[in-house]
Amino acid sequence: MITKSTTTKLVVVLVTLLLAFATQASAQETKLKWFGHAAFSITTPSGKVLLIDPWIKNPSNPEAKDNKDPLVALTRVDYILITHGHRDHVGDAVEIAQKTGAVLICNPELAANLVKLADFPSKQAETDNIMGIGGEIQIAGGEVTVAMTPAVHSSSVFNPKAGPNEPERAYGGNPAGFVIMIKNGPTIYHSGDTAYFKDMETIGESYAIDVALLNIGGHYGMEPKMAARAAQSVRAKLAIPQHYGTFPGIVPNADGFATELKKLKINFYEMKPGETISFHGNQMTKPK
Ligand SMILES: [Zn+2]
Repeated sequence: MITKSTTTKLVVVLVTLLLAFATQASAQETKLKWFGHAAFSITTPSGKVLLIDPWIKNPSNPEAKDNKDPLVALTRVDYILITHGHRDHVGDAVEIAQKTGAVLICNPELAANLVKLADFPSKQAETDNIMGIGGEIQIAGGEVTVAMTPAVHSSSVFNPKAGPNEPERAYGGNPAGFVIMIKNGPTIYHSGDTAYFKDMETIGESYAIDVALLNIGGHYGMEPKMAARAAQSVRAKLAIPQHYGTFPGIVPNADGFATELKKLKINFYEMKPGETISFHGNQMTKPK
């Protein structure tokens, strides 16, 4: 016979199980947000926040429209990853680092010049997280592994302190890309501003890339057709375009990239600036 107290106990057990399941589900969620241009944030299942190429005040970012300050919402940032020194990639890194205490991940020359020329907080730039191409580091208590990959591009860093007879661009080390491997989450490749190079196949052989964030804007880097070939070479399960439509002279939209990917039968998702997508494990679950 089922008594009232048995029913109550059953309900309590059921609610506890449901809550545990919900906590577990959200605990394994990784979030990827695009701010426009090459700027993304990744929030890991444990809540750590990584920013990549944080030009948050770029003109495509809806949060930066009408003179709004998009940095207000960035209350937590643990790591800032920068592929190379150009201004559209360093972006607002210094201001964000000063505000949040985020630790810098980039090559040593760029790190040193950002400290010396742009006042990046030195303690956050002089850590074991400064790395070189070919290397891998573990961050976020081992939850995330970051590999720095080659990129065929250039890299200088803007020197706001340059005098009238000094070059306004200082050395920025070699340009790079990143493979970001998240425990219980996806492996994400950010290509930086690279041209296509055939050794992208090696990146695809070495890492199981779930999502490739590829520069498709052309002119300064890969044209859409070669960006699609890059998606194929790194064996991306899902390709997401970036570095287009931000300013005149680069490809205005992702249509050409989508057409090329279709021919290659590679999954495509076009994010809107300001959009966040979620992953459960390495599977994309929902756009938000
Ligand atoms: Zn760029």
